Amino acid sequence: MYIDTHAHLLDKKLPKIEEVIGNYLSVGVEKVINMACCLETARECVKMAEKYESVYFGSGIHPQDIKDVTDKDLEEIAKIATHEKCVCIGEIGLDYYWDKSYKEIQKEKLIKELEIAKALKLPFSFHSREATLDTLTLLKDNREKIEFGGVLHCFSGSKDTAREVLNLGLKLGLGGTATFKNAKYIKEVLDYAPLDSIVVETDCPYLAPEPFRGSVNEPKNIPIIVRFIASQKNTDEIEVAKLIYKNSCEVFKKLV
Ligand SMILES: [Zn+2]
Repeated sequence: MYIDTHAHLLDKKLPKIEEVIGNYLSVGVEKVINMACCLETARECVKMAEKYESVYFGSGIHPQDIKDVTDKDLEEIAKIATHEKCVCIGEIGLDYYWDKSYKEIQKEKLIKELEIAKALKLPFSFHSREATLDTLTLLKDNREKIEFGGVLHCFSGSKDTAREVLNLGLKLGLGGTATFKNAKYIKEVLDYAPLDSIVVETDCPYLAPEPFRGSVNEPKNIPIIVRFIASQKNTDEIEVAKLIYKNSCEVFKKLV
């Protein structure tokens, strides 16, 4: 019924993993994509996916961790990504919020990660923070490397940005931030974006949706996000859930 397309199940802020899994399975979240942030978490993601049936994963290096990454590290990321339960390259992207000092390194290594995605015929989960223009420019300039699609995760851009993302053949990943009271953009984005362009995610343990904002987020909160989208779209919640599930399987083909 539901898929959480972007979570961080290794994060210590979460309760015990068995409890987290029990919680989400009981509300109909069938699959969760556990995103790596660095080489070490990618290795841990493999172990968790091998242990728990509902857990899949992404292999990739987050922009905050990319600075000192070597080609050899990226080779291992690519090798891990050949695992049967690795459904994407992620999370990868551009982040100018924490540190603007190595923008060029971020871009250069991101392109190498997109090359891995293409070589392995995998989609990607893309993190973009305070880097919208560079994100769109880089993706447009590297169109041939993104032919297997991907998701702009935690999308919180304008309608115009959404249009550009969809024109690139990518999907919008909506999570808890969409439900925040100050998320004025989301109404416009949801009025514009067709339902088949949307997947949902928690990015847990962060960004719990309303009315739980500020608390530890878990994949069990996915139905809240789907319900919010259905209400904004004035559409039946079950139909929206089914369609979003289908979209997730279309992007992340190794989920099925
Ligand atoms: Zn994330």
